[in-house]
Amino acid sequence: MRDLSQLELWFVPGSQDLYGEKALLMVREHAEEIAHALSQPPEIPVKIVPKPVMTSADAITNLCAEATRDGRCIGMIAWMHTFSPARMWIAGLNTLRKPLAHLHTQYNRNLPWASIDMNFMNLNQSAHGDREFGFVGARMGLNRKVIAGFWRDDHVLKQLAAWVRAAAAWHDAQSLKIARFGDNMRSVAVTEGDKVEAQVRLGYSVASYGVGDLADRVGQIAEQEIDELVAEYDEGYEVAAPLRRNGASRPALREAAKIELGLTAFLKEGGFEAFTDTFEDLHGLAQLPGVAVQRLMAKGYGFGAEGDWKTAGLVRAMKVMSVGLQGGTSFMEDYTYDFGQPSKVLGAHMLEVCPSIAESRPSLEIHPLSIGGKADPVRLVFNARSGPAVNACLVDLGNRFRMVVNEVDVVPPDEPLPTLPVARAVWLPKPDLQTAATAWIYAGGSHHTSFCQALTVDHLADFAEMAGIEFLRIDDRTRLEDFRNKLRWNDVYYFLSAR
Ligand code: MN
Repeated sequence: MRDLSQLELWFVPGSQDLYGEKALLMVREHAEEIAHALSQPPEIPVKIVPKPVMTSADAITNLCAEATRDGRCIGMIAWMHTFSPARMWIAGLNTLRKPLAHLHTQYNRNLPWASIDMNFMNLNQSAHGDREFGFVGARMGLNRKVIAGFWRDDHVLKQLAAWVRAAAAWHDAQSLKIARFGDNMRSVAVTEGDKVEAQVRLGYSVASYGVGDLADRVGQIAEQEIDELVAEYDEGYEVAAPLRRNGASRPALREAAKIELGLTAFLKEGGFEAFTDTFEDLHGLAQLPGVAVQRLMAKGYGFGAEGDWKTAGLVRAMKVMSVGLQGGTSFMEDYTYDFGQPSKVLGAHMLEVCPSIAESRPSLEIHPLSIGGKADPVRLVFNARSGPAVNACLVDLGNRFRMVVNEVDVVPPDEPLPTLPVARAVWLPKPDLQTAATAWIYAGGSHHTSFCQALTVDHLADFAEMAGIEFLRIDDRTRLEDFRNKLRWNDVYYFLSAR
């Protein structure tokens, strides 16, 4: 998985040269203190690097160009401690190709009521300095995040942390390569999409391979490598009897290990961090990759089944966003319902659910796959941990990408599921299944999602803002009438704003 600690956010205080050296020195000291303080909490996985106080258009233009070029810089946080006439920011902001957050804060929490004078007023004037900067952001139509409040307060840190993590995922997406083995599952609509537009809009590139290319690489795996990986399986999971040493299905376990080794090698050699496959196209592979896909996801790879490269990219983005946080991320599918009170979703897939969401040690099992006509695949089986989660999807509406995110609460299954041979999560969607499913369907949300127990809707909203794509949330406050109106208004907005 990516090491986010090497990445940087540039903390840029703005001012002008009217204030004199002493005031600018104070601005610099304060900015350094704030940048340092914001770097410390574990929620912020990157370095926040203070930059010199900006007092001229040339300096700003140079800094923005440098930020755009710098491979470690994932974004810029701007703060106008004093007034900084914003026309001098236009040239720089025009060239900035990194995410921008505008932190609207103030060095002091409270006013020194008894001693406040005009010197204090002139130094601590972000209340209007940041409004000037905000105007230019609005006038230029910049995608950006505005965070207002005292910099030591939790709500500021929480918003900044969400944005920082979205910026890290955005940075990753700009060089992400997704490998597709085979095409989409035949005739499926929602997993289709414009890969060129995705590259323009989201950064990642999608490359297609015949599954035979993968089968060739699997064929080159040595017996000794298989021995070692099978030993790792034996150690790591509750291995079902037929898969154990001398069990009747031990050869199938070795085959699964061989597929994992070949797939891993193929992805590493090609520099891929996400991939798709499809059960309809497995020529040369003995079984649908199950445990292989599950374990690769657990290592940080994005995945989408049935050729779903959009979900593969989204799973990868959410894996990067949640580095170091509690809770896993998985490819997921709304599979079947319990229409009791309250109504629940049982989420799963044919095999490919990531063990990062497991509540306990998974069991390694082999069962028939009722479709596809291949040998029985080996898979990890488990229940997901209970607690809050989000389900996110990305669809292509033809003139834009739309992200839909639903807040859910994962709950234990009502009863044990002794005959269900796949990993699963049971959840209560917010505000309730009926409303959430109705809204999701009106929005054209896909059956495939990226499911995550580490992130909130805010992380994804920030990511969508960076990409300039449509964002819809379904949560406790969702009312269908409002939601449907939003869909109509958004159609008009995206029609008018099309480039
Ligand atoms: Mn599916």
